[in-house]
Amino acid sequence: MDDKGYVMGGLAFLLMIPSIILLLVLVNMVNLDDSSNIMMTTDTVFHISGDVERNIPILARQTIKETTENVVQTGNPVPNSREIIRNRIQTKINDLISGYHNNTGVNIRCNILSVDSSSDLFEIEINSIISIQKDNISHNRNVIQKVPLVGLKPTKMFSEESYQFNDIPDPLPFIKCKNYGVLKVNMGRISYGSTLSSYLSSNGVKNYSVYENSSSALYIKKCPFDPYISHGNSNKLQTLKNCIENGYYHESRDGACFLCRLEGKAICNHYGLETFIVPAGTNTRFSTAPCSIDHVIFNDEKNRIYNGESVEYYSSFNIYFRIFLDNGHGTKYGISNSDTLSENQISNKKIKQPE
Ligand SMILES: [Zn+2]
Ligand SMILES: [Zn+2]
Repeated sequence: MDDKGYVMGGLAFLLMIPSIILLLVLVNMVNLDDSSNIMMTTDTVFHISGDVERNIPILARQTIKETTENVVQTGNPVPNSREIIRNRIQTKINDLISGYHNNTGVNIRCNILSVDSSSDLFEIEINSIISIQKDNISHNRNVIQKVPLVGLKPTKMFSEESYQFNDIPDPLPFIKCKNYGVLKVNMGRISYGSTLSSYLSSNGVKNYSVYENSSSALYIKKCPFDPYISHGNSNKLQTLKNCIENGYYHESRDGACFLCRLEGKAICNHYGLETFIVPAGTNTRFSTAPCSIDHVIFNDEKNRIYNGESVEYYSSFNIYFRIFLDNGHGTKYGISNSDTLSENQISNKKIKQPE
């Protein structure tokens, strides 16, 4: 009996060993599961944070484009454009975030703090805070991003293939000309027809008829001819002609920044943009006319539209193509007084001058 008792006790102990091993393994598995859960949560939090961050500039550009295109359609300015665009981006971001919360249970907040001009005038700066929390893990991130106004090919920043990288139009001409007729848009240019001349005439400007059938750029595009004085350096003003025909924009101390343009301002306190408004080619000569810089033409404050001297940049079959520049803008673009004379006069002048 005693022997039997020992054997039974020994067997029972042997039988317990696998159970103990199994228990240990299970405990370990539970531990492992916990740590991988933590890793999964951390991964999810960072993944979602990165995803929201990547989406801010995409949604911001979409908002700026939609807002601007609405101004082009209606001619109605967007008062307080910075705040209105900020609100619209916030709404789009909230829609995006609610999707994340429903799918993952992660608590996420993204506050668009501000929308403003950037140090680069061809960009808008978006400042936001992303806060994410799940279980014991939380993650806060302050993000400052630059959204380009100029049309871009996809870059690393905008990797979504479905996203359209279209150009953004200049809203200012549509706001300023709203009550004077309809602007036509063709091949990336605005054709003014009689609209701009009636606008100038109603502002009491002489020689307004020079701007009958004039045109200007539709989209914000950065002029590549830098420094700007190089516009006047080339043979027969080829660079100026190229700039005018491509409808490029330039940095300007006087001209309004993009967000103020949306508000219908031609000039503002920020560093801004300017482009040429180009009279149609004619066979009649004008030596002076309203200056062809957009912030001069669209400055509708009383007596603020000043004249410029004729700069002929091209002629063909007795049709002369010219813009009008005051001394300040002539100097900025490297166009001296001699450029305002016809080609024959310039070559005569050069022959007469020994230097
Ligand atoms: Zn240019
Ligand atoms: Zn401004």
